[in-house]
Amino acid sequence: MSLIRFEVHLYRLIPKTRIGSVASAKSRTGALLKVTWPDGFQGYGDLFPWPEFGDASVEDQLKALQTGRISQGIEQSIWLARRDAQARMYKRNLMRGLPRLKNHYLINSLESLNESDLSEIKQLGYQTLKVKCGRDLDLEQTWCDRLLRQHGFVLRLDFNAHATPADFHLFMERIPKALRNRIEFVEDPFPFHQELWKVASQLVTLAVDQEAARVPWDEFSDTQPVPFKVLVLKPARQDVEKVMAQVHRLRLKVAITSSLDHPVGQMHAATLCGEFKKLYPNTILDAGCFSHTAYEDNEFTAYLPTRGPFLGEMPGLGIGFDDALNSLSWTRLEHLKL
Ligand code: MG
Repeated sequence: MSLIRFEVHLYRLIPKTRIGSVASAKSRTGALLKVTWPDGFQGYGDLFPWPEFGDASVEDQLKALQTGRISQGIEQSIWLARRDAQARMYKRNLMRGLPRLKNHYLINSLESLNESDLSEIKQLGYQTLKVKCGRDLDLEQTWCDRLLRQHGFVLRLDFNAHATPADFHLFMERIPKALRNRIEFVEDPFPFHQELWKVASQLVTLAVDQEAARVPWDEFSDTQPVPFKVLVLKPARQDVEKVMAQVHRLRLKVAITSSLDHPVGQMHAATLCGEFKKLYPNTILDAGCFSHTAYEDNEFTAYLPTRGPFLGEMPGLGIGFDDALNSLSWTRLEHLKL
């Protein structure tokens, strides 16, 4: 462990509106990691914790790393950085030759949504919206109905487990069945409970994200199916190979998303989207790697090769951003004052 060298660049992202249904609109701190291995490989990763979901702060995780303790977030960051490093070593771009996935557009706050935003989103070519729900169910229900009926969007709804089973049923039953079919899935409607999720899954397709931590995976099999059809995979937060093993065993579909993190994290997620789409075309659904639409622009956003809902190949090696990464100031982990 001590043989790996870490250099750190701390950054801030400034949300355009409230993010998720639990965070405040303050700026958020994350860290880019430049990781150098004894074999000379060097790659980049992102660390962007969500204390709202129980993560330790970036400072605490880096302090722990100074004493050799590796959090789940840092472990994933190192794993992703190694992929980047290998591509850089062999002068390859990680996106080269991979299929491009459509991304959903994230609506963090329905309170500030207006019709001109919606026509712009539509003109840019987005067909699917992911809408954060669970703060004001009446308002959200009205909006969902309108987005489906008048605008023809496909919806992914994410309640972050904030509804109750009763509220959730009411919410869904008020959306006519024909429209409900255009809700691709509902993520984490309420805290995972096998029986209650099973009942809810009769109303709409369910997806598991944060609630995956509560799922007793080993109890499920072909004969004992899970009460959800989709798994949201965030490579920045989860052991990708372990998750994919469950996905194949239980025949789930997967939506790969960024962790609403830095463009470096976005590109890492996007490269995995392309790789897995190539390997498992019927398993991988549209992606959710467009974190940048939720934050004020930064020096990395300008480089993002977006075209409508697609993310293309970033110029450079690995995940790209070569010039932007080179121009940052980096501090050796052991010299970092936290
Ligand atoms: Mg979620």
